[in-house]
Amino acid sequence: MIEIATGVFVKRHEELDLNLGLVVGDRECLVIDTGLNDAFAADVRKITPLPWRVVLTHNHWDHVLGTPAFLPCEIWAHENCTVDEEILLGDAKNYPELIPVDPVLVPPTHTFKNHKKFDLGGRTVELHHFGPSHTSHDVVVHVPDVDVVFAGDVVEIGAPVQFGPDATPENWPNVIEQIKRLAPAMVVPGHGTPTAEWT
Ligand SMILES: [Zn+2]
Repeated sequence: MIEIATGVFVKRHEELDLNLGLVVGDRECLVIDTGLNDAFAADVRKITPLPWRVVLTHNHWDHVLGTPAFLPCEIWAHENCTVDEEILLGDAKNYPELIPVDPVLVPPTHTFKNHKKFDLGGRTVELHHFGPSHTSHDVVVHVPDVDVVFAGDVVEIGAPVQFGPDATPENWPNVIEQIKRLAPAMVVPGHGTPTAEWT
């Protein structure tokens, strides 16, 4: 876990160059994607004992298969985020050593449409849906007090962007433009090195 700003952590993975996030407030913390397996929940507990809430940037397997280890808690996602075995587990079978033997798919408990704000105690975190791009339901997470954005797979660094069956390439530049308007000092891509130089 790397602390990229005060109370804002990124778990970097050699596997898939994947990033998972954690934002810690005074009263609670927000977990951004749950990863490949149970490991991330244990990593978060090494950082903070505070109650947690999970937000899923999108439903791809490498971002969500760790969710059962966080339950019970609120699982937030965009309203178009579905639990679809084919989408979720399509590629996962190529990485049997990374995922649980019997992966459990956990649907979101709470959804939003365009914008949602959480008060973690002493700091707020904002969820945005800027329209479809990598998927129909990408969530961008903004931590305004430290100017950090978790972009999910809308931004990948060091690898080509991925086009799944529900990607919308024609709207992608618009989504990037709206992320730029947040003026982040640091962008955490779904895969690749967090950086200020992301465009
Ligand atoms: Zn993805």
